[in-house]
Parts: sequence; structure tokens; C-alpha cells
Amino acid sequence: ELHVQDMINWFDKINEKVQANKEYLTSLDQAIGDGDHGINMARGFQETVNKLSAQDYANAADVLKDAAMTLMSKVGGASGPLFGTIFLKMSMAVKGNDMIDHETFSRGLEEAVNGVKQRGKASEGEKTLVDVWSRMAVHFQQETDFDAEKVTEAAKNAMEETKDMMATKGRAAYFKERSIGHIDPGSASSYYIFDALANTIE
Ligand code: ADP
Ligand code: MG
Ligand code: MG
Repeated sequence: ELHVQDMINWFDKINEKVQANKEYLTSLDQAIGDGDHGINMARGFQETVNKLSAQDYANAADVLKDAAMTLMSKVGGASGPLFGTIFLKMSMAVKGNDMIDHETFSRGLEEAVNGVKQRGKASEGEKTLVDVWSRMAVHFQQETDFDAEKVTEAAKNAMEETKDMMATKGRAAYFKERSIGHIDPGSASSYYIFDALANTIE
């Protein structure tokens, strides 16, 4: 179960991982994009934790909503509105729940995936962050309880599978066949988000 403080801890851990891997995320985006993904994520999640730490929260949905709004407004790249949509849809889906159990979280993920697919007009297999989020929605539907190790493993596998895909959405699509052989930057940051979740629930 995730309580308000767990949600805040989740974003603190995401931020730690993103800051620690800022150069790596940027190098992935240098290969098949414009080389700003690490900078975008580092700014977005730093602003998010600043926002969350400056306020008291009564429920998890409000934490998710403020994170979403911050990412949407502070990240210039494509990834800001996409991650913003993910957390906003999740917020709407868990609204009214004092604590978020596995089933509620799973429902939130499903809504998040639907929302981000619609927003980015992307589906599975197009070498975008959708590939990690969609896989994780399925993972949570198949599991009956939070299992930190399995969460990390599933997210890592999904991220690594983007390596052999050819990008057909976003900047990486301009690279056509040359996008093959590189991990998708947005999928790498999505992996950190789920790895941070695993650290929060373990
Ligand atoms: P930008 O491409 O504007 O520089 P970023 O570098 O921050 O933005 O983010 C790039 C990431 O965004 C990609 O690696 C990919 O995962 C994700 N992305 C880009 N376009 C889409 C889309 N249409 N649908 C889903 N995800 C996308
Ligand atoms: Mg970029
Ligand atoms: Mg950019």
C-alpha cells in the first residue's frame, strides 16, 4: 500500500536516480534525438520535489496532480507533457482513496497508459516510453501484490527491448533504421521511475 508520504518518497527517489543518471540519459538522446533528455528530466523532477516539499498533502491524488502540473509546465521537451499526462491520469484514477493498494495502483496505471498513448498518438512497439508503461500496466494486472524485485525486472526488460526497435514516433523517428541499436531515452527514464517505485515499496 502506498500512503501520501510514500508518494512523496517515490518522487524523491525518482529525482535522485534522474540526477545521478542525467549524463547517461542525455547520451542516449544524443544518439537518436537532440541530446536534452537528461537535462529535461533533471529539471522536471527537481522542480517536482521542490514543489512537493514546500507543501502539506492530505492525499496521494494531490501529490500526483502537483507532480503532473510541474512536469507539464517546467519541461520544454516532448517528454514533459507526456509524463505530465501519465501522472495526471493516475491522479484522477486514484482520487478519493486514502491509501493506494495494488489494485488501485493498477487501475491508475491503466488510465495513465491510455492517456499517454492518446496524447502522443503512439502505440506499443514504436520505441517510446509507451513501451515501458504499457508493459508495466500489464505486469500490475497479472500480479496480485507489490513485489519490488519483479517491478524492477519487468521495467528493465521493457526498457532493454526498445533497443532493437525502430522509432516511428518523436525525434528518434527521423533516424529511421539508424535508431535501431539504441535504448529509447524516455524508456530509460521510465525505468528509473519504476525502479524508484520498487525502492519505495520494498
Ligand atoms: P524532445 O524529443 O522534445 O527533445 P525529450 O528528449 O525530453 O524530448 O524526450 C524524448 C522521449 O520522449 C523519447 O525518448 C520518447 O520516449 C518520448 N516520446 C517522444 N515522442 C513521443 C510520442 N509521440 N509518444 C510517446 N512518447 C514519445
Ligand atoms: Mg530530446
Ligand atoms: Mg528537445
